[in-house]
Amino acid sequence: MQNITEIEELVKLISRLPGLGPKSAKRIVLKLINNRDELVKPLAKSLVEVYKNITRCKICGTLKPNSVECDYNNCKVVNKKFDKICVVENISDQWSIESSNIYNGYFHILGGTISSAGQKKEDLLINSLVERVKKDKIDEVILATSATVEGQTTAYYIQDSLKDIKVKISKLAQGLPVGGEIESLDDGTLFSAFKNRTGLKRNSG
Ligand SMILES: [Zn+2]
Repeated sequence: MQNITEIEELVKLISRLPGLGPKSAKRIVLKLINNRDELVKPLAKSLVEVYKNITRCKICGTLKPNSVECDYNNCKVVNKKFDKICVVENISDQWSIESSNIYNGYFHILGGTISSAGQKKEDLLINSLVERVKKDKIDEVILATSATVEGQTTAYYIQDSLKDIKVKISKLAQGLPVGGEIESLDDGTLFSAFKNRTGLKRNSG
């Protein structure tokens, strides 16, 4: 490869994307360069728009346009009233569950797990989850964290945080493969995990 700073920089950035190494990054960059008007231009425009206009909601953690203000009791992101909240670790989990069409309700995206790797619970949207459950007339909280040690620790922590609120708490069925991350499950597994979810307890408040 020639030493062109701009190209090297682009290759470096693209190879940081999931599933891509330096080799595929180079192929992508060549494809882009060979399609300046069809790809580079609209891609650059689209990236700028996403950067400027899309952020994670500080309350529910979902992606939203900046123009949409999300509030307790008034989730403008979905614009519908539900009585269930499904708690997931990441937006990719939300997308998997949405595309499998097995769940109809609110989402709450924690932004990770409580892990030994230093993710602090204060970084996760757990306090706002508790607030939502209190204020949004929620009947059931479905804990859909991964079947990993971190995912399960996080689920226990959330269960504990909700212990003083009158709400049903359930967890995805044990059919999840150990170590399984929600986003990597096929629709069938996800479907049975939801359908056979187990109630942990009905808090009496
Ligand atoms: Zn929100």
